Amino acid sequence: MLDLTVIPATNATLPEVRQNLHLIDGEFTPSRARPGTSTATHEVPGQARDGVSWSERLSPSHGTVVSRSEIGTIQDAEAAIAAARKAFDDGRWSQLSGKARAAVLLKVADLIEANTDRMALLETLESGKPITQSRGEISGAADLWRYAASLARTLHGDSHNSLGSDMLAVVLKEPIGVVSIITPWNFPFWILSQKLPFALAAGCTCVVKPSELTPSTTVILGELLQEAGLPNGVVNIVLGYGQPVGATLASHPKVDMVTFTGSTAVGRGIAAAASTTLKKVALELGGKNPQVIFPDADLEAAADAVTFGVYFNVGQCCNSGSRIIVHEDIAEAFTARVVALSRQVAFGDPLDPATQVGAIVSREHGAKIDAYVTAAVKAGATVALGGKPLDVPGLTPQFYEPTIVTNVTPDMAIAREEVFGPVLTVLTFRTLEEALHLVNDADYGLSAGVWSENIHTCLTFARAAQAGTVWTNTWMDGFPEVTFGGVKQSGLGREIGRQGLDEFMEIKSLVMRIGRTRAPWVRPR
Ligand code: NAD
Repeated sequence: MLDLTVIPATNATLPEVRQNLHLIDGEFTPSRARPGTSTATHEVPGQARDGVSWSERLSPSHGTVVSRSEIGTIQDAEAAIAAARKAFDDGRWSQLSGKARAAVLLKVADLIEANTDRMALLETLESGKPITQSRGEISGAADLWRYAASLARTLHGDSHNSLGSDMLAVVLKEPIGVVSIITPWNFPFWILSQKLPFALAAGCTCVVKPSELTPSTTVILGELLQEAGLPNGVVNIVLGYGQPVGATLASHPKVDMVTFTGSTAVGRGIAAAASTTLKKVALELGGKNPQVIFPDADLEAAADAVTFGVYFNVGQCCNSGSRIIVHEDIAEAFTARVVALSRQVAFGDPLDPATQVGAIVSREHGAKIDAYVTAAVKAGATVALGGKPLDVPGLTPQFYEPTIVTNVTPDMAIAREEVFGPVLTVLTFRTLEEALHLVNDADYGLSAGVWSENIHTCLTFARAAQAGTVWTNTWMDGFPEVTFGGVKQSGLGREIGRQGLDEFMEIKSLVMRIGRTRAPWVRPR
């Protein structure tokens, strides 16, 4: 008997199937595709209807059709890029004052809040995440829009007033231009809001491609942008797959920058595609994020945070705390405590407000998670909890048990690769140096954490850990003000915070002479 906390199907009434169209130059247009030109190969195949190709998204938890979305073509992507290019070049957005841009962003924030419930429901049905979490992500995203609005009003460059009495230089910040934004399925609206309002605050125009699995909240945002009075063409949305839509957005010569969140493998391809025109690239990629637990820590708080870190978003989270490195003296007791807490975490129907952990995004992904656990056991690891698909009465079989794997060695795939599921691996250490070696001997460097009551231990760890974010005595706390991003193969560039805005800006130095003091270079003959 596993003795887990499982929430069976609620009998909630599901909404009608939503239809999603591209947003190009201010209009929700039918696809420019000719019938039968779709290259879709996804598990839910495209269907040609009325001369347009559509994909259907089935709810991972309920198995019913949630939305039907156009499948974009190269022509759609090119039309969207042309609209964004024109909107940027004629200055309808880039030349507005920061105050005027901020006013639109603030209106969007209000509209997001007013539409939270209907957006959250679609986010939950398309992604499988719990409804309370979706509500938190959507209303929390409104705060990202508000923070970006504050940055739009405080944008400034730099000045050099000590170059001599006849010289003055200023460093101007200008919007970089047309930005392609490509987002994943795990936090569809939140990740979009880590990018789009900051690009808009900078004065850029954008083409957005959401994941084919979770397009609806992005399209609803398109409606809200129009309601807020954003000029046509400033934000365009093209639905569809990585090929050809994402690839066109990443390589097109009229695009100045591409910002991408997703897997490291696709990120590498995007950097290569962008290199042909040397456009700027920002990448938020995967992670294999360690938490190191010392015996002097508040072990109860640490165990709770570890439990949260591994199961949040059913582990499908770039910041998932998927490996812990525990001091040998406490490893057994600490693991037992995390196992006990794991049994109390409510897995089940995402539509029940009591649910804390929902469904796996797709059947294929569930199989991938299971394969990691099976391979680890074959290599000598022990499953201390879970380790197989979870049956939730009345719902699609797309859930996975809370899983804890011990007797793991650092060379195992489960200890090094991103499992992207509710699977915790436990490693042990004796000295700080040994722990740091385990932390840094990794391809990824997104985030890391340390638990200790000793400030010297925490600060030594924080300085030495190769990660974009280090948490001490907490996990996954984030703020719009505090920038986020990865080192090593976790990515390039930063999002949110003032640095997140700077990513969307180009720098121009303006050097001025005061008076006619310039000595001629050409000597008179
Ligand atoms: P993915 O890389 O498969 O897809 C991400 C997006 O890229 C989707 O919109 C997809 O359609 C598009 N895409 C696919 N192939 C493309 C191509 N050739 N050219 C252009 N676009 C293409 O990732 P996913 O499965 O949607 O998301 C999971 C991954 O995202 C995980 O690896 C996770 O760690 C990572 N992630 C990272 C962060 C972060 O901030 N670091 C946040 C969330 C997710």
